[in-house]
Amino acid sequence: MMRRFIWIAVAVWAALLCASPARAASTTDPPPDLYRVYFADWDDLTRLSGELDIWEVNHTENYLVAPLLAAQVETLGATHRVEQAPWPVTQVAESTEGGIEGFACYRTVAETYATLDQLVGAYPDLARVVDIGDTWDKVTPGGPSGYDLLVLIVTSPVYSGPKPRMFLMGGIHARELTTSETALRFAERLLTGYGADPDATWLLDYAELHVLVAANPDGRIQAEQPSLWRKNTNDSDGCPYANPPYTTYGVDLNRNFDFGWASCAGCSSPNACAQTYRGVSAASEPETQAIQDYLRSIYADSRADSIDSPAPDDTSGLLISLHSYGQLVLYPWGNTTTPAPNGPALAALGARFGAQLGYRSCQAGGFGCLYPTDGTTDDWVYGELGVPGYTFELGTDFFQACTTYESSVAPSMLATLEYALRVTALPYQQPQGPTITDLLPSRTTLAAGEPLTLTANFDEPATALRLSVGQPPWLPGAPPVVYPAASLPLTETTTVTVSFDTTYLPAGRTLVFAQAQNAEEIFGLAAAQFVTVTRTSKFQLAISPPFQTVHRRDVAHFSVTVTNTGAITATYILSSTADQLIALTPVTPTVVAPQSTVTFAASAVSTRDATDADAPVAIFVCDAGQPRDCIGTAVVIIEPPRLVRLPIIARERVVTPYRNYAVEIVHER
Ligand SMILES: [Zn+2]
Repeated sequence: MMRRFIWIAVAVWAALLCASPARAASTTDPPPDLYRVYFADWDDLTRLSGELDIWEVNHTENYLVAPLLAAQVETLGATHRVEQAPWPVTQVAESTEGGIEGFACYRTVAETYATLDQLVGAYPDLARVVDIGDTWDKVTPGGPSGYDLLVLIVTSPVYSGPKPRMFLMGGIHARELTTSETALRFAERLLTGYGADPDATWLLDYAELHVLVAANPDGRIQAEQPSLWRKNTNDSDGCPYANPPYTTYGVDLNRNFDFGWASCAGCSSPNACAQTYRGVSAASEPETQAIQDYLRSIYADSRADSIDSPAPDDTSGLLISLHSYGQLVLYPWGNTTTPAPNGPALAALGARFGAQLGYRSCQAGGFGCLYPTDGTTDDWVYGELGVPGYTFELGTDFFQACTTYESSVAPSMLATLEYALRVTALPYQQPQGPTITDLLPSRTTLAAGEPLTLTANFDEPATALRLSVGQPPWLPGAPPVVYPAASLPLTETTTVTVSFDTTYLPAGRTLVFAQAQNAEEIFGLAAAQFVTVTRTSKFQLAISPPFQTVHRRDVAHFSVTVTNTGAITATYILSSTADQLIALTPVTPTVVAPQSTVTFAASAVSTRDATDADAPVAIFVCDAGQPRDCIGTAVVIIEPPRLVRLPIIARERVVTPYRNYAVEIVHER
């Protein structure tokens, strides 16, 4: 304890006295110590949060914890109850192999940038790095050389998109050591898992992870000295070197964003020396500008400018900013106790995150949550673009002991970040549906034609389950093949076992997806498993295009190429998963000689009427003499008839299906 006390006290002192090469350090004042300051009410806490470097807030006993110099203790003591607080208990790790001295589990800035290069080299198809801008030191002559801000993009080329994008940020506050390491480890987990782990595979196939591992590397270099440096290293805003009792230059980047900047008293500080100093103007810092510009480039603006306008329910994308410490999940708004227009949906996803982490989840600026803030990253991305933004406050210490980080902080965070990437396609909707906690296939390898049994467990009662093969069920434009009996109406249950026909599954390893729906008809998060289907068909088939969408009674045209790889002459016939609802041409079996190929034009037309349900139709080729020997597939999506409204001429309504159109005729009397 004593060793820790001395160490961290020196670190605080170093942070307070600055480490700028341009300034001589002074140690004439005694070092700060940690104190509890008891606040009267929310307004009092708000005032204090604009002045102090608050590490913790206890809303049950109404005190905050902050490092204070002797003079501050005296000033505050005149109006508040102030008591010395115990330092956070941290065991200093023994190993000094790499990383930060005493904290080998956290890669330094240099090691982090080297790792980004290594990952791009090791996974050229899955990882790339983009330079999104420069740090303050890099754009300011005369001091340290500074850094490029690098975003690691992790995704696979299997599906061309558009894909939902999750933006993950670490290290915007320099001293929060766990955050950059966690962001980097999450990217590494997906890259190493791709191809072997079904979740890592489908997430990289159908989503993108954008990771700004080190959002404030200039500041982090200071923290690695070590010190408790929080802000960037901008020393041009007039914070004097000697400014007792509390001297630290730099801008708090998480108070500098251009949404609600300086909008509430105490949410940030106008004092250039304060730890929550917001900068001379909104987005004054190069780091803030780079992050905002990048977020605008990857997200569409889905929210109208009025403060009361919600983002649409089907908005995709998600931002998570990693901070420490406090074991909290925070969501907008930070600068008011009023809920955000998407408040219930933000709270629902926050509660999901909180439950996974064992953390409390609350609106950042809500009564009794933490303390109010303005100009933050998550308020900006939600306020400007409608994308849900979250702050995770990791663990129980800025310099979290490696043993604690490895045993509890990292495992639960990595699992929760994977959950976050799963939900990125529809973050306002899917958290309100049932999550599939396990998806267990009866076998992972089977011959085409053998039934595949899947057991799905849900975290809340579900009323329906839909399965898809190869692609997630929600993809627009090219929906997956939905096999007969794959969409089951259920009575409410938390587990279900379904069996489906694998006759038409493609040969080889494929992903099988499942998604459950609740009584409110909300689909929850998907889960996926690998299934390998073996097949001995003598046919090889290519149908072009592989997907197309037509309206009912429109004709879908294909080019079909069939190769007979067998030793004897074969006949094939076109078939589909909805024989009674689709007419295929040609209808007569065709002969293909051994080891030869036939290419011909084919077509499909829907014969459905207005009352038939719409579903994708898979088309395949079967041996005319052996109906089980089939191979596919092309997929035709049959869309409902186009609705045409004619001018209103009467009050009587008749809706009639007419070729491709449902014609609504309203007669006027
Ligand atoms: Zn922070």
